[in-house]
Amino acid sequence: NISSLRTAAAALKNPITPPVRINHTQLLINGKFVDSVSGKTFPTLDPRTGQVIANVAEGDAEDINRAVAAARKAFDEGPWPKMTAHERSRVLLRFADLVDKHIDELAALETWNNGKPYEHAAKIDVPGVARLFRYYAGWADKIHGLTVPADGPYNVQTLHEPIGVAGQIIPWNFPLAMLAWKIAPAIVTGNTVVLKPAEQTPLTALYAAKLLHEAGLPPGVLNIVPGYGPTAGAALASHMDVDKIAFTGSTDTGKIVQELAAKSNLKPVTLELGGKSPFIVFEDANIDMAVEQAHMALFFNQGQCCAAGSRTFIHEHVYDEFLEKAKARAQRCTVGDPFQKGIEQGPQIDTEQFEKILRYIRSGIESNATLECGGDRIGSQGYYIQPTVFSNVKDDMLIAQDEIFGPVQTILKFKDVDEVIKRANTTRYGLAAGVFTKNIDTANTLTRALRVGTVWVNCYYVFDVTIPFGGYKMSGYGREKGIYNLHHYLQVKAVVTPLENPAWL
Ligand code: NAD
Repeated sequence: NISSLRTAAAALKNPITPPVRINHTQLLINGKFVDSVSGKTFPTLDPRTGQVIANVAEGDAEDINRAVAAARKAFDEGPWPKMTAHERSRVLLRFADLVDKHIDELAALETWNNGKPYEHAAKIDVPGVARLFRYYAGWADKIHGLTVPADGPYNVQTLHEPIGVAGQIIPWNFPLAMLAWKIAPAIVTGNTVVLKPAEQTPLTALYAAKLLHEAGLPPGVLNIVPGYGPTAGAALASHMDVDKIAFTGSTDTGKIVQELAAKSNLKPVTLELGGKSPFIVFEDANIDMAVEQAHMALFFNQGQCCAAGSRTFIHEHVYDEFLEKAKARAQRCTVGDPFQKGIEQGPQIDTEQFEKILRYIRSGIESNATLECGGDRIGSQGYYIQPTVFSNVKDDMLIAQDEIFGPVQTILKFKDVDEVIKRANTTRYGLAAGVFTKNIDTANTLTRALRVGTVWVNCYYVFDVTIPFGGYKMSGYGREKGIYNLHHYLQVKAVVTPLENPAWL
């Protein structure tokens, strides 16, 4: 293991040249790429080296004003909300085709800017965007109101109308997927959008927005303003002309965004926040399968997933076997340049996350959890961290309570069903859970008792676009994907008309 890590470190010194050029670094407002009002730019970095790969126009409050004005005009004057649903759906479908056509460039930019393995970007993230847009395109002409049976001679209808200008703020861990989850349901329902990508990962958002315009999206319907949270993000959340905010990120920032929305115009907010999801393995589970799934549930995307199975609860009768196999699996995990073939884990996103993860690892060691493997950085440049496994973890340790957001698996032991339910639910979060058992009664008990937005039984990270995703408790509220997300972008208007001499009510 040590020698293979040394080999990886040597390879990391000479990063592979990404097979793509960066063409778009300006803000996209009203269908045009433009500089920021201040003329300022900010650097975007390669997580493999920490080096600058491009300077991107830095949006601020004034740029948000311009973008919101464009979105407002595109909403109030059209044509987007006034187009037929069928016409709107065709734009989404054409965009999905363009995503398929540009999969190599999109995947390469995503890897370059985010550090995720190219094979994952090309096989999961980018095709997922096309799939999601095709799914929502199909909803366009299937959204409609009701005829309501009022108690009296009235014709009562509900109209499902777009809410207006949607402000969307997204994180850096899945730049393209988060953008797609936000934009598709908003625009298919006739809304217009101002989206602020994470400051770490603005590149694919600009590229995708360019493709959406090529697909026929009218100017002003989608505006992209890269910039920092406390400036551009806060200006968007508190804007009086924004009718709805959708946010994905940390719980602390979610609270700020909700407060800004409430203090300005009381716009509705949906929040997808952090998690500390339990991954629970009972003694009757298929252990080899559970080990592999638990590994993926934690280490996928360098551990930077809000739904990471980050508290691995193992029944005491299978604990030793599971631990030995989980450790061996983590040691086999291939870490390296994400452009290299067969790489499972690339660098963390930036120096801040990298330092934070190493601090949590030190905290685990200091609180007397057992460091089974890993625990250190790899190489001397970029943000690579060894796949790390802690055993003997106790509920009150910081590593069992806080979101680490890195490649650090924490393994805890449990004795019985009631105990593990209680411990699994003892967290401020409630995003997801995994349950591994062959006993249908155990599975049914757990799926109902766990206070989380998603329970995966004998599987994990099944993220099809049809399946709603979102949190309980401080993991946020609202649901993304599936039919549920459409409701967040629709107003319901009741229309009441008296009926003269009705044949029937
Ligand atoms: P963050 O909350 O700091 O950033 C997320 C986004 O919010 C970025 O675009 C950022 O610029 C913006 N932002 C920051 N401060 C803001 C402010 N004052 N006003 C408005 N916008 C602001 O998150 P992070 O630390 O960069 O990302 C990691 C965290 O995000 C983790 O805790 C993780 O759990 C969470 N996350 C959650 C999900 C989910 O779906 N629930 C997905 C990805 C990440």
